[in-house]
Amino acid sequence: MHVSDAPVGSRELTTERRKPAAAAAARSFPLRYAGRTVIALGAHPDDIELGVGGSIAALSAAGTRVVMAICSVPADYETRVAEAGAAAAILGAELRVLMPGGCRRIEDIKTYQLVGLLDEMVRDLRPAAILTHGPTDFHRDHVAVFNACLSTQRLQPFDFYSYLPTMCRPVPVPFQPRAYIDISGTIDRKMAAIAAHHSQFYSRGITYEMYRDFARINGRMVGVEYAEGLDISRIIFS
Ligand SMILES: [Zn+2]
Repeated sequence: MHVSDAPVGSRELTTERRKPAAAAAARSFPLRYAGRTVIALGAHPDDIELGVGGSIAALSAAGTRVVMAICSVPADYETRVAEAGAAAAILGAELRVLMPGGCRRIEDIKTYQLVGLLDEMVRDLRPAAILTHGPTDFHRDHVAVFNACLSTQRLQPFDFYSYLPTMCRPVPVPFQPRAYIDISGTIDRKMAAIAAHHSQFYSRGITYEMYRDFARINGRMVGVEYAEGLDISRIIFS
């Protein structure tokens, strides 16, 4: 049969068969950023892994360049940078320390200087998205980084997400995810990346299993085994 003689219904069927893969890709958070650059930003070592370690592993597996940017290292500089490097390697990401060379705190620099550090990074990396702290966090350093990132949005458009308040010991803080990333396939890498921060957990007798619990609860909310929740400040659709 000549192609043009094919019944209309069969052409529609061919189109229909193409739809599921395209639709699945359109719903996929990692595939949205494949071949692009995403910055995961945290005030301190371990914040990023606790907040979005599973999402980072999924992004890097899908072909996204993920840069894990730590603003400051408050103590034990060499140890904590080494732990952060090990965690980044587990997640398939690059590590940057924005205030390198020794122990510093966010409050050691002025707000405009913190914005300047983030501006420099955004000009360099041209990210498609940034994942960082949110405004409801109880840690003032985390909120300062979120506010600086708000300012950096003026340089270029990028998708801007916030992850849950991160902490070693549980503190009740409001956070309402508006997006959920399925991390059922990367939960073990997330937990391994958190475990790489040996000085923060094992040596102080602190468990980090509550982050598996958060992921399980978020997953249950959306019908998958494990998920990470994100708030959305801005997302850009083409
Ligand atoms: Zn922190």
